[in-house]
Amino acid sequence: MDYEPSGRELSHFPFLKKANDRIKDFPPLEVLLKEERGKLITNLAVKRINQALSSKKTIVAHFQNRDEDEIASYVLCRIIASCIGDLQLLDRLTRYEAERAYHFLVSETGTEEGEKGWNENITLDADEFSPISKYLAHEFGINITQERIPLNDYVEIIAPLHESRFKLVNRIVHRGFVEIRQEERYELLRERIRVILRRELPYRNIPKSLCEQLAPYAEQIKKEYQERMLQNLGAIEESAFPPCIQALITAITSGATLTHPGRFSLTSFLHNIGMEKSQIAELFARAPDFDAEKTMYQVGHITGGGGTEYSAPACAAMRTTGLCVHSDTICATVNHPLSYYKYKKKMAKPVEKGKES
Ligand code: SF4
Repeated sequence: MDYEPSGRELSHFPFLKKANDRIKDFPPLEVLLKEERGKLITNLAVKRINQALSSKKTIVAHFQNRDEDEIASYVLCRIIASCIGDLQLLDRLTRYEAERAYHFLVSETGTEEGEKGWNENITLDADEFSPISKYLAHEFGINITQERIPLNDYVEIIAPLHESRFKLVNRIVHRGFVEIRQEERYELLRERIRVILRRELPYRNIPKSLCEQLAPYAEQIKKEYQERMLQNLGAIEESAFPPCIQALITAITSGATLTHPGRFSLTSFLHNIGMEKSQIAELFARAPDFDAEKTMYQVGHITGGGGTEYSAPACAAMRTTGLCVHSDTICATVNHPLSYYKYKKKMAKPVEKGKES
């Protein structure tokens, strides 16, 4: 597409291919990280990851730093996250980047809350689309100026979305195309950005020495993330387990042999909510064919013994492996078994005295 994004636009959408050109003259990362500028970029990158992990996100459209430093911080935060290798962290980071992009798209000319637009030099076309929004959508394979989208594309994009308005039965479908309202186009674009950015992670070709150089930052992020997760999830409450996890536990106790994805999902879920390895193994001991040594090895591997700590699969993955069963009304509002658990625990909390309405 014939458009040359400005440095400011690229700093807001640093995943665009052209953004790389802005930092191509930077010294190699190993060298840059030792310089003052490298430290600033690292701080920005760590901030980015912390924001992605925070439950209270603040997206600021007016940057204080150079466009190139913003772009470099995007690249670096993906490298740090890849060095950490936690799949849930990668999910959160890409979700955050897609959210940011969405926010910048809808706030280009300012927000209803009175925030000044960040892209002051834009000209909107008759349908109120800016050149950068069309450019971005084009790079991600969506034509936002069209009122309809090919059915195949639509089905792929909305698969992880829960809202009923996106369900095909609630859409107008005509000759292989689905009609899209103007205000929904950025939402679909956000989803497409998320999926593509996630697909690229983790980077597999990061030199070991670079990960070692970044290890102090990675360790700090990991520590805070784990503490935050355990704090959020609190004491273990079996009655709040989602139906899929309850079904796996029932299967074990009734003597069924779990499939590999079943064992993996159950173990990683229990590990993520803070259950000790020995407690997880105890649960597997309810199975009639329990093999202590094999179980400890498998549990150890999934919980980080092999260098990678795995996160529990999201609902979409559970569906693919046939493990999403007995879903209930809460399921319709979540996209991860951990979110289900968190939500149900919160609902079950007794109302504190004096706070009753
Ligand atoms: S929707 Fe998610 S939480 Fe609910 S049963 Fe399926 S996988 Fe589990």
